[in-house]
Amino acid sequence: MEKDRLDPWGTSAIKDYSRLQSEFGIEALAPLVPRFKKPSPHMRRGIDFGQRDLARIIEAVEKNKPYAVMSGIKPTGDFHLGTKMTADDMVYFQSLSKKGTVFYAVADVEAYADNGLSFEQTAKTAVRNVADILALGLDPDRAVVYFQSEELKVMRLGTVFSRGVTNNMLRAIYGERQIGLYMAALFQAGDILMPQLPELGGPKPVLVPVGADQDPHIRLARDLAARYHEEYGFIPPSSIYHRLMLGLGGSDKMSKRSADTLLTLDDATKDASRKIMTAFTGGRDTVEEQRRLGGRPEICPVYDLYRFHFARDDEHVQLVYHECTKGIRLCGECKQEAVGLVKNFLEDHRKRRDSLMNDAKELLAKSRDYLTSTGE
Ligand code: SF4
Repeated sequence: MEKDRLDPWGTSAIKDYSRLQSEFGIEALAPLVPRFKKPSPHMRRGIDFGQRDLARIIEAVEKNKPYAVMSGIKPTGDFHLGTKMTADDMVYFQSLSKKGTVFYAVADVEAYADNGLSFEQTAKTAVRNVADILALGLDPDRAVVYFQSEELKVMRLGTVFSRGVTNNMLRAIYGERQIGLYMAALFQAGDILMPQLPELGGPKPVLVPVGADQDPHIRLARDLAARYHEEYGFIPPSSIYHRLMLGLGGSDKMSKRSADTLLTLDDATKDASRKIMTAFTGGRDTVEEQRRLGGRPEICPVYDLYRFHFARDDEHVQLVYHECTKGIRLCGECKQEAVGLVKNFLEDHRKRRDSLMNDAKELLAKSRDYLTSTGE
């Protein structure tokens, strides 16, 4: 049987999400969903499927105790639908309690190591990316957004951690990589554990929402939390995992590395429409076959557009699934409907995002002041 591969910097192959439990120790999410008063659309639609120590976050919410939600973005281009999934989870978990604070790292060190982009280039992209997440609902009053390369606390933690890991350990988690990526991974562990430093309120539960392919970073951070528990009192970070969206060309993951299989929040309407209308589908070879056998939403990226982002509500997702599998719906009309939904969303989002550019700059400046005031 082909083994699943989780690669945060390349192509991941996940044939069976339930196997990630035995292969990597990711626990099922379903038993914990009833503990949420209003489960998120990702939970209700089976998009979020796994977790590690999520109960710690649920308890913090129930007991009105502080917790953090930590994630980041690699500022290599426009916000795309994969990044939006993580952002949606962050916004949801921030909204569960007034005691929840978001820490959002602009991973410019990783963008340099992995993509060769200069810090000047990524700084410009980052402001727009931050405005995107504000437009998606992030509450700026309980958010700290910072550049990885500027944050000395992260650099220091990364440096401390570099003495606690061996080449063998990094190779076991990530495979053979260039040194820059190992360094970026250590700084990323610094990002994940920074909210627990004494000057930022001390040890607390921290949730990291990620795509399944990012699990190696979580394993490293949890390992380091245990190694440095005595010194810093770190609590192992919790995580929640979402499925990877299929690329529009039918690949396993929508990725910035392949522009035509990717929808971004900045695609011109005509480009978004072209990409959707030429997308791979789970449809059959002929209309007659599709009417008789039904389509295959499980392998269809157009269905993913509905399920992950653009359906009006859960009933709409179920309707598309039902009509597809029963042969009632054909791919051409299904794509046309998706184009309309995407177009409306993109137009609304861009208007909101463009009006929030100054707020994004202010949030970055306010966060810089806050982190500086807590000591360098
Ligand atoms: Fe995909 Fe829609 Fe075709 Fe079904 S009808 S296979 S969901 S494009």
